[in-house]
Amino acid sequence: MPTPAGRHFLQIPGPSNVPDRILRAIDRPTIDHRGPEFQRLGLDVLAGLKTVFRTQHPVVMFPASGTGAWEAALVNTLSPGDRVLMYETGQFATLWKGIAERLGLVPEFLAVGDDSWRRGADAAAIEARLAADRGHEIRAVCVVHNETSTGVTSDIAAVRKAIDRAGHPALLMVDTISGLGSIDYRHDEWGVDVTVAGSQKGMMLPPGLSFNAVSPKALEATKSSKLPKSFWSWQEMLGPNRNGFFPYTPSTNLMYGLREAIAMLHEEGLDNVFARHRRHAEATRIAVRTWGMEIQCLNEAEYSPVLTAVRMPDGHDEAAFRKVVLEHFDMSLGSGLGKVAGKVFRIGHLGDFNDLTLVGTLAGVGMGLEIAGIPHAKGGVTAAMHYLAAAHKAAPAGTFVTRS
Ligand SMILES: *Cc1c(COP(=O)(O)O)cnc(C)c1O
Repeated sequence: MPTPAGRHFLQIPGPSNVPDRILRAIDRPTIDHRGPEFQRLGLDVLAGLKTVFRTQHPVVMFPASGTGAWEAALVNTLSPGDRVLMYETGQFATLWKGIAERLGLVPEFLAVGDDSWRRGADAAAIEARLAADRGHEIRAVCVVHNETSTGVTSDIAAVRKAIDRAGHPALLMVDTISGLGSIDYRHDEWGVDVTVAGSQKGMMLPPGLSFNAVSPKALEATKSSKLPKSFWSWQEMLGPNRNGFFPYTPSTNLMYGLREAIAMLHEEGLDNVFARHRRHAEATRIAVRTWGMEIQCLNEAEYSPVLTAVRMPDGHDEAAFRKVVLEHFDMSLGSGLGKVAGKVFRIGHLGDFNDLTLVGTLAGVGMGLEIAGIPHAKGGVTAAMHYLAAAHKAAPAGTFVTRS
């Protein structure tokens, strides 16, 4: 098989396209992880991460995929048999619940109505459930900030307020694995106790690193937590981390990449990064609506800036459609997961991504719809281009693209 010409379009909602600058940063000799050069790297990265999570408190880093950091959040704070209130937003919430079950916790899976896979977490329902828990048996509330299976975000500040209004002491744990670095996120300001994140989505890195941002209250909870923990132990980490070191061999080369990624996010400016994601998401939705297709997310206020999940017309399968796009245009689109397998495909528009990569992505989707014989109206890409051009016209030159 010859290698296809040009770049592959990796338009799944993570792993995202890794920019050359990060690939070059990673492509350096591995150094002694107990030496002085590593120490500078470790201190830089651990301090830099705090600026991305917007926290003054420690961020713990594991050489693992996001799933590891999910497990770490639970085992560091909870004990066997503890009740946790987990909100059913989609497949990733479902997977996190599965981990809780296998660890011997007692998750309660909260959902409102039969379209919870099309909406964000309902803060009022969380408040009502916590208010009914007079004995404070629920130890943690777990919410996915950007549900990657559906393209729906949840309002984390509202969930915090709901917990406070109920006067409930439960920890707030948030998965922003696919949100960090793409969507505004404020660990301290929103009163989150444990934030779970990963490297391969908005952070633009290859898979292999994941994170827990940890509040003082969560750190306090580790003292009484009885779930077994060794590899995932925050306590084991935090001692050596103070000096930039790790209790076991860290992913040195990914950390070179992470240092570069944090620098890139700040050079562009976090707010500009978030605005860019919102612009690309809006342009994508304009294309989808013009095609006459349906967006999975029902509530405009909850649209994900990271990905758009599109519902297939009845009688058409997303897997067959994605196969057409891959074979003809060398572009990977996200599959339907769990309850929406076969029914939705997902367009990732995150990370190292600009207006023209979006136009190329949408063109690939549009041509794929045509080739696969999926009923749709023409003009989606043109409508998206019109929106992008208008955004550029309205903004001062250099607002969206600056080269140093
Ligand atoms: C990708 C993702 C995960 C899983 O992370 P892995 O790195 O695949 O273990 C969990 N939650 C969300 C919201 C995700 O997008």
